[in-house]
Amino acid sequence: KLASKEFKPAPTIVTAGGVEIGGNRIAVMAGPCAVESEAQLFEGAKVVKRAGAAVLRGGAYKPRTSPFSFQGLEKIGLGFLASAKKEFGMPIISEVVDPRDVENLAEIVDIIQIGARNMQNYALLTEVGKQKRPVLLKRGLSSTIDEWLTAADYLLAGGNNQVILCERGIRTFETSTRFSLDISSIPVIKRFSHLPIVVDPSHAAGHYALVPAIAKAAVAAGADGLLIEVHPNPKEALVDGLQSLTPSDFTRLMDELKLVAASV
Ligand code: PEP
Ligand code: MN
Repeated sequence: KLASKEFKPAPTIVTAGGVEIGGNRIAVMAGPCAVESEAQLFEGAKVVKRAGAAVLRGGAYKPRTSPFSFQGLEKIGLGFLASAKKEFGMPIISEVVDPRDVENLAEIVDIIQIGARNMQNYALLTEVGKQKRPVLLKRGLSSTIDEWLTAADYLLAGGNNQVILCERGIRTFETSTRFSLDISSIPVIKRFSHLPIVVDPSHAAGHYALVPAIAKAAVAAGADGLLIEVHPNPKEALVDGLQSLTPSDFTRLMDELKLVAASV
């Protein structure tokens, strides 16, 4: 396997818009689940930048469970992301859900996100594998770590070696959280793969009150970074408001994370 440590013993450090993922510092990627308007994205960017996030997240294409839910602003959303990148000087991460949008998205974003539902979308993986842009590959809802690393091989085999893995929780019998964060996946990936791993506590938790503890645990367990949903006004969010942190909760968490990171 190309993602294995046997194939490449040295850890991979991904550089996205000047930010290193897999280096010595914890890279925090934060912002709204979905881009809803330019004002909402800019307000979110201002907040997460001030709190110390390195990368701005925001979905223009949203993979929704129901076809009747808001699907994202699509091309208009990408335009807002491009303006936010200029305005705030932050690298951007955004999800692609359709192989036909990959090239266009790769021109704008610094990290292409492949969502949990598309971890085994081989047409999408193949297309993203042809790009020179860093890519964040989320773990599938019910995928084993072996299946996840094998999916990463599609990207690596295509020539894209800037791959970041993202643990975002898996489906278990437990219903008190949206998904069960597999904290063990962090040391397992560190043991068997050279790729950096970040953790998304937001989609695992499904509730803002649970996010800080999971985020701190992930850093303590050796994660290279975090992907966190923050909304200027979570109650008004079009997508994932319940799991989104308020600006003040995110700022507090960033301060607490410094203490955890310093002791790892
Ligand atoms: C997201 O990051 O907003 C998202 C849809 O995540 P996941 O693919 O992990 O469900
Ligand atoms: Mn979301």
